[in-house]
Amino acid sequence: MENILEMKNIVKEFDNCTALHEVDFSLKKGEIVAIIGPSGSGKSSLLRCINGLNTITSGSIELRGTTGMVFQHFNLFPHMTCIKNVAYAPIKVKKMDKEEAYKKGMELLDMVGLASKADDYPNHLSGGQKQRVAIARALAMEPDIMLFDEATSALDPEITGEVLEVMKRLAEEHMTMVVVTHEMGFAREVADRVVFMDHGKIVEEGSPEEIFGNPKNERLRSFLSTVIRA
Ligand code: ADP
Ligand code: MG
Repeated sequence: MENILEMKNIVKEFDNCTALHEVDFSLKKGEIVAIIGPSGSGKSSLLRCINGLNTITSGSIELRGTTGMVFQHFNLFPHMTCIKNVAYAPIKVKKMDKEEAYKKGMELLDMVGLASKADDYPNHLSGGQKQRVAIARALAMEPDIMLFDEATSALDPEITGEVLEVMKRLAEEHMTMVVVTHEMGFAREVADRVVFMDHGKIVEEGSPEEIFGNPKNERLRSFLSTVIRA
C-alpha cells in the first residue's frame, strides 16, 4: 500500500537540545500507529513535525494529505459554543457554506455523543466532553491523518474511557491515526504498529504482540515495567 507519510532522517534541534535524532517514520493509509515512550523522548516533537507546527532542522517529509490534531489540553475556543467550535474552521478556512458546516458539525457532535451540548460553551463541559468536542472539531476539516498527543492524559481515569471509545470508533472506520499515548491497553488493542521512542530516537517498533509480548530493547523493557503494573 502507498505511504501517506514518509519522513526520512528527521532532525529537530532546539536552542539547547536535539529533540529528534535522524528519525525515519512512515505511515500507510488506514494505519494506526501508537507512539509510546518516556517524557521528553520526542513524541510531541515528531507529531509537530508531521503537521508543520515544528519546522525541521534537516531531513525530508512527504505528506500526501492533511492532518488534524487533538492536544492534551483541548484548546477549544472558550467564547464559542460547541457547534461553533466545530463549524468555525470549515467556514473560515474551507469557505464552507455556513448552513452546511453547522449541519455537518451536528453530525460530528452526534458521532462523539454530544449533540445535546451543541449550544453549550466549553466551560460547561467535563474534560472528557471537551476532548470529544475537540475530536469533532479536528474531524470537521476532513483530515487524512488524525494526530493525537496524549489526548487522555489530562483526564480523570474514570473518564478517559469515553474519549478512548471515540478514538476506537475512528480506528474501526479506518481513519489513519498516529496516537501518542500512555494508555498501553489502547495501544495493544487498537494499534497496527507500536513505536517506542527514547532520547529523540525510534528505538524499537513492531506489532503490539512484538512490542508488549517480546520487547527486545532493554530501555523498552524497563519503560514497560514502569507503565504496566501487573
Ligand atoms: P515528549 O512529547 O516525548 O515528552 P517532546 O517532543 O515534547 O517530548 O520533547 C523532546 C525534547 O525537546 C525535550 O528535551 C524537550 O525539552 C525539548 N523541547 C520540546 N519542545 C521544545 C521547545 N519548544 N523549545 C525547546 N525545547 C523543546
Ligand atoms: Mg509530549
